[in-house]
Amino acid sequence: MTVTRVGPLPAATYDITVVGAGVVGCALARELVRRAPGARIALLDAADDIGEGTSKANTAILHTGFDAAPGSLEARLVRDGSRRLASYAAESGIPVEPVGALLIAWDPDQLAALPGLAAQAERNGHHAVRPIPVEELRSREPHLGPGALGALDVPGESVICPWTTTLAYATQAVRAGVDLHLNSRVENVRSGTGTHRLIVAGRGSLTTRWLVNAAGLHADTVDRMLGHETFTVTPRRGQLIVYDTFARDLVRHILLPVPTVRGKGVLVTPTVHGHVLLGPTAEDLSGDDAKRATHSTADAIDLLRARSRRILPRLVDEEIVAVHAGLRAATGHDDYRIDARPGRHYVTVGGIRSTGLTASMGIAAYVADLLADSGCAALGTPRELPPVTVPNLGEAFPRPYQRPELIARDPEFGVLVCHCERVTRGEIRAALTTTIPPASLAGLRRRTRAGAGRCQGAACGAAVRELFGRGNGARG
Ligand SMILES: Cc1cc2nc3c(=O)[nH]c(=O)nc-3n(C[C@H](O)[C@H](O)[C@H](O)COP(=O)(O)OP(=O)(O)OC[C@H]3O[C@@H](n4cnc5c(N)ncnc54)[C@H](O)[C@@H]3O)c2cc1C
Repeated sequence: MTVTRVGPLPAATYDITVVGAGVVGCALARELVRRAPGARIALLDAADDIGEGTSKANTAILHTGFDAAPGSLEARLVRDGSRRLASYAAESGIPVEPVGALLIAWDPDQLAALPGLAAQAERNGHHAVRPIPVEELRSREPHLGPGALGALDVPGESVICPWTTTLAYATQAVRAGVDLHLNSRVENVRSGTGTHRLIVAGRGSLTTRWLVNAAGLHADTVDRMLGHETFTVTPRRGQLIVYDTFARDLVRHILLPVPTVRGKGVLVTPTVHGHVLLGPTAEDLSGDDAKRATHSTADAIDLLRARSRRILPRLVDEEIVAVHAGLRAATGHDDYRIDARPGRHYVTVGGIRSTGLTASMGIAAYVADLLADSGCAALGTPRELPPVTVPNLGEAFPRPYQRPELIARDPEFGVLVCHCERVTRGEIRAALTTTIPPASLAGLRRRTRAGAGRCQGAACGAAVRELFGRGNGARG
């Protein structure tokens, strides 16, 4: 098992290298090692941890794809990925709650749009989507604001933990033999006959026979390193408000607006962690810093709160735990941009904008097929990998502090460190000694929820930092 964060990269040639360890790159690395057990596979990321890009900041919905553009690659891969991920989550302990969605019409035009959306769902193979009258909507969502005229019932839409999804993929990939190189920003690529040499900031270079670009917001930059100029990523920022667990009883379903050409719109959704999310905005950004602009703005927070006043008025008075923002990798094209260049031994996985968490396993299977069809000889028949179990971060399933048999075996699972999110010393210790340990307190938070609650680490920060420092010391 190899995870590196410092030092020169290995000199031996890799068969396949994936650039980008977001949810898509990690799913892909897992799928590749499943199909190529003897091959040398590398997964590189510029950040010091997996899932540090867009994959850490989204609305965490496992979409059915009912509203995708019929016939698009995205529709196909969301549908396939959703099915695969639901079953993988059940095997791996990734929490999923199939709460269902209600897509709500707030004016006569939106009401008139519902039958068309139901027909679109039908074309996407979702036959259970149906319009419901306002009385049914109100009985199913008693805290909804006044003025709703009707809704579409969308069974099957679920919420999922985005953090442990990426972690499960990457852990399984690394245990099966993928080399994960973090702190490895690819600065340039020199392509020769049948190989690419990746120049990696501060770590030398790495040679590979096949290269897959899953660099998210930077997929266009990596493409240009190989001389391709087919698309440009224009980040579309989505700001989100996270409400405290006290708000959780206000909402039972994912409450969707009628989508527009600008996107899926502002929604309210419960999370598997017991919080409530409001957002996201959709702001096209430009300028030098656009791909780093993950800060929140007062205007957007005001806009979101104004929207929530209409959707779920009582939410406005609830405690806000955090605000954050993610950047969608929009490309001005209404579909994914996945292209194989067999002669160049290269595949681009770009434009994975709003649905990449859901579609990740579908994208991985599709790209592995593309590589095989392109002549990547390392790939063969898929095999089962030894299963992984990720820590349960979901409220719908027993957490360690609720498991007497676990506490009897190891009393540290009964010692709370983060009281807001009920995270124990045992969970923190386990996260620090696992296959891919966190490199920062933020990484530890994504593996345990420590510090993700209402005090944002004000009460437990010192204790968590001490455990984190001790864990790092133990690892040397
Ligand atoms: C606000 C918002 C809400 C969303 N909601 C949902 C949702 O509810 N459901 C859903 O399915 N999807 C949702 N999405 C979409 C989903 O989050 C993304 O599609 C997905 O995370 C994209 O994953 P990725 O791996 O392609 O990109 P990323 O997670 O950004 O990963 C790309 C990685 O590449 C690395 N990288 C970049 N350049 C280099 C380089 N030169 N060298 C090495 N590494 C490099 C980066 O460090 C990064 O880690 C949402 C997105 C946003 C922004």
